[in-house]
Amino acid sequence: MRYSTALGVAAAALAALGTRPAAAQSVAPGYLEEISSLATDALVAAALRLAEAHDDWALERLIELTEIPAPPFLEAARGARFAELLVEAGADSVWTDSEGNVIGLRRGRTRERTVGFGGHLDTVFPEGTDVTVRQVGDTLFAPGVGDDSRGLVVVLSALRAMVEAGVRTEDDVVFVGVVGEEGLGDLRGMKHLYREGGLAPSAWIDVDGGGLDRVVSMGLGSVRYRVTFEGPGGHSWGAFGTASPTHALGRAVRHFQDVADTLTRSGPRTSYNVGRVGGGASINAVPSEAWMEVDMRSESPERLSGIEQAFLAAVDRALEEENALRREGPALTVAKDRVGLRPSGAVDPEAPLVQRALATSAHFGVDAELASSSTDSNIPIALGVPAVTIGRGGVSANSHAPDEYWINRDAYVAVQRAILLVVAEARLVGATF
Ligand SMILES: [Zn+2]
Repeated sequence: MRYSTALGVAAAALAALGTRPAAAQSVAPGYLEEISSLATDALVAAALRLAEAHDDWALERLIELTEIPAPPFLEAARGARFAELLVEAGADSVWTDSEGNVIGLRRGRTRERTVGFGGHLDTVFPEGTDVTVRQVGDTLFAPGVGDDSRGLVVVLSALRAMVEAGVRTEDDVVFVGVVGEEGLGDLRGMKHLYREGGLAPSAWIDVDGGGLDRVVSMGLGSVRYRVTFEGPGGHSWGAFGTASPTHALGRAVRHFQDVADTLTRSGPRTSYNVGRVGGGASINAVPSEAWMEVDMRSESPERLSGIEQAFLAAVDRALEEENALRREGPALTVAKDRVGLRPSGAVDPEAPLVQRALATSAHFGVDAELASSSTDSNIPIALGVPAVTIGRGGVSANSHAPDEYWINRDAYVAVQRAILLVVAEARLVGATF
């Protein structure tokens, strides 16, 4: 079948999201039957055909959305256009919440639950990045074109096809463009949706990452710090002996790695990265400031907390040592700001949403694996709400890099799969199976 041509490069797409596949997961036969019956329902079948027929429209929307810059915390312009497109696609009502999430409601018949279905509006790229899309054949080059403009387009395309085909569900479905998924956004959009008294959908289907071959049902946790050492600074000769923030910083990294290395050699996969360092004004000046940004991740909440404590202890030790070495002037101080916290967790592989996500892959002939990743689903997963992150389709590569590209190879299949999953989870009206 045509879709199989996309599978050879699935590993590249996986690597791009920083996702690691876990064990292949079996699907209970009941869910396979449920999805094949759903696909033969006349209205659903019409929606699946429309998803393919709208492929050109989807490609145009992808280019359009990608070319609206959406740096972290500056997603409003892309959000405004996404809101217009939700209206055009036929949402019953569309609004933007106080955090900036853009929400389109398709009302259910009984409205017992709300199923959330979203992609993220933001990119990792800063203001001023050239986001013009360059098209070569079926390949689109642009920062953010795959991650996650294409996810937004899957959400829009599914809504449009469901509306045009007249597919109704028992539960409400909200189609969401979520803010703040990347970097220091720290999942702020999802934290807002699931805050006390928030919309808090009772199931969440997220579109981010590769194809149909993996279902993210485990949230990879992370903790992030910005640490700043500060001192008086001074002339490198005249004020020699003044405590140095950069020297303290170097010690902190060294002490941290000594412990972090042992914590990451075995057991649940855990990682650490001193991603950015900075400070100082001149080669011949003792800096008054030195800072670093550090990212730590683990599949295990306990291990994550362990490496975080090791990091903080290393910073304190470095401060103490550098202050003990100083020959003149005041002591250094340090600020340890936690700038990110993404909780970890896992959904039961037997949960209906996970089973349906696997069954919808199987419906298109793909044996999906369950995987662990850091996505918007982390928030509901950590709260015990069933959530999965599914692929956006096509072939993505080089995400988070300026030479990111996305190939429109059978990408409509991902839209069809999303429709089946959303409609199964929100329960088709009049289903006789
Ligand atoms: Zn993403």
